[in-house]
Amino acid sequence: MSIRKVVKYGEPSLREPSKEVHKVSRKITDLVQDLFDTMYTNNGVGLAAPQIGVNLRVYVIDASTKDNPMKPLVFINPKIIKKSGAIIEDEGCLSFPEAYTAVRRYKNVTVKALDINGRPFILEATDGCLLARAIQHEYDHLDGILFIDHCVNRFETDSILQKHHLPPIEEDKLLIEPDLEEELEND
Ligand code: ZN
Repeated sequence: MSIRKVVKYGEPSLREPSKEVHKVSRKITDLVQDLFDTMYTNNGVGLAAPQIGVNLRVYVIDASTKDNPMKPLVFINPKIIKKSGAIIEDEGCLSFPEAYTAVRRYKNVTVKALDINGRPFILEATDGCLLARAIQHEYDHLDGILFIDHCVNRFETDSILQKHHLPPIEEDKLLIEPDLEEELEND
């Protein structure tokens, strides 16, 4: 298998919606292996297929930390079927080398997807844990949405992007998230 080039912010393919997988064929299992190889090489927590130039609804996550080892996870044709709560945390992305900024996310999510064997599974991630946030981050990539679209402070985010020689925020992509904002205010 191989380590692939990660598509950087500014390349149009990152904004393209990805297509459903019809069959978990050899092509897909090879893609998953490339995603893991590329993610681990770059010390990432997750990687979505569009980030290596493949617009298919597939991503991988390894949310292990030093104190909390976890199984690497594969998500094919995922759907977030439940979400609640809200949290603000710093996030980064392998398509935005070295750039981190604060974003709004749901605290708890339940996701339904197919695994590497094409079998459906349901997974719940709670308390704004790394896995819960990674599921939302990678899921967004499949719809051409990027973490900076969820940023809390667009001016700060713009200066972070500039510092890392990345293109500025795309204003028309910024998300209005009244439900998350309301949750955060009530917290
Ligand atoms: Zn990302």
